[in-house]
Amino acid sequence: MPIESYNPHTGRVLRRFKAFSWAKTEQILGHAHRAAATWPATTFAHRAGIMRRAATLLRERQDELARLMALEMGKPVTDGRAEVLKCAACCEYYAESAEGFLTDEVVKTDASRSFISYQPLGVVLAVMPWNFPLWQVVRFAAPALMAGNVGLLKHASNVPQCALALEKIFHDAGLPAACFRTLLIGSDLVEKLLTDDRVRAVTLTGSEGAGASVAAIAGAQIKKTVLELGGSDAFIVLADADVALAAKTAAQSRMINSGQSCIAAKRFIVEKPVIKEFISQLKTHLLAMRPGDPLEESTQYGPMARPDLADELTQQVEDSVAAGAKVELFGGQAKPGTALFRPVILSNIKPGQRAYEEELFGPVALVLEAKSADDAVRLANDSRFGLGAGVWTADPKKGEAMARQIESGAVFVNGLVKSMPELPFGGVKKSGYGRELSYLGIREFVNQKSIWIGKEAAPTAKTE
Ligand code: NAP
Repeated sequence: MPIESYNPHTGRVLRRFKAFSWAKTEQILGHAHRAAATWPATTFAHRAGIMRRAATLLRERQDELARLMALEMGKPVTDGRAEVLKCAACCEYYAESAEGFLTDEVVKTDASRSFISYQPLGVVLAVMPWNFPLWQVVRFAAPALMAGNVGLLKHASNVPQCALALEKIFHDAGLPAACFRTLLIGSDLVEKLLTDDRVRAVTLTGSEGAGASVAAIAGAQIKKTVLELGGSDAFIVLADADVALAAKTAAQSRMINSGQSCIAAKRFIVEKPVIKEFISQLKTHLLAMRPGDPLEESTQYGPMARPDLADELTQQVEDSVAAGAKVELFGGQAKPGTALFRPVILSNIKPGQRAYEEELFGPVALVLEAKSADDAVRLANDSRFGLGAGVWTADPKKGEAMARQIESGAVFVNGLVKSMPELPFGGVKKSGYGRELSYLGIREFVNQKSIWIGKEAAPTAKTE
């Protein structure tokens, strides 16, 4: 893919970038590797100061950053500002908590003292997607840098200006330049980086295909990976639920980022007695949402990030309808090759249809009928993915019991599924492995080292 900023609302290319050569990339890697030898020696307080300044700069530049996201991938500016503020909060969270999360943990053994010590791995490569161009990167970078690692960012090819703006924020905040660099490279150079011993680990957020490819290369190199991949999350509505609130939240969840969120609710699994009412209310809420220019304050959803993504979504919908899915609300593209995609609702979703088997990464709501709560759990789990599911019921105990049965990285009962610094985020099955955020996220890219200290001058016992 060319590295270029393309405005999906106007269809114009804003800026083109020449991809870095391997020589340039390798030179940056060399600097990063050298920085990885000195950065861990800085104190947590020093790193926290930089992270807090980054948070301040994010807040100060929120309008400019929101504008960039609107221009490069179509996110409405109001949502963009919220994303920037979330990034600032994440920087502050790790500035505050990293030291506590990585303090030596004493473990009682036969030693006079034994403990787990957390030490950074070195250079970590981050391969990131365009849908939350700042948040995806910050939720990797803030914990990784606070832990003493050094980051190299290979961002999606359609958001180079966001990638450079974030690099500038960390540098302006006082981070040594070599500790975080944006590499303007295509995915072709990822393999070369991963086979270089100076890169110690990789995290990828993106599609299943990209995840499988990167993990295979990293696996052959015995390198740690974290994969945050796609989802087709269930949003279960039981007959006793507050259907009005569930339908309102369903519309909001499905339309987050023009439907291009990994944890957007995608499969609405509804008990039979309330399915008609749910569809009718969902339709009302979706039709009330205002599309438009992402730079306008009043716009509620913008175009999809690229016209080819909208074309692919249309194909998935058409194939599913040809295989028996029923159209409850007809939106979609005005014509092929355009990025705006109005909401669609499909029902009668059955195995064998693309809508049943695949992730639909855009504003298409799939409604499935459940015979009972058990049937709803069965349908929820009959998916290759498992990222962030939801359950709506008047009985929170029942919701909790169902949450335990659902195969998913997270389940929210009676609430919108969201990410937040305090709770771990990640998937099971084809949605990936490893966790970001919380104390688990910062412990992904550290050596969890056991240190065992015997008694002074103790005779050495023979052990295995
Ligand atoms: P994508 O095509 O997989 O791209 C993601 C990143 O991977 C980009 O930087 C891309 O670079 C790179 N890439 C693609 N193929 C690669 C390969 N073979 N080797 C190395 N790097 C490769 O995904 P996307 O379309 O941008 O994002 C949408 C997907 O991401 C959806 O499936 C969504 O659910 C998932 N996602 C998951 C999460 C999560 O936290 N679980 C969050 C957001 C999105 P180029 O741009 O240069 O191709």
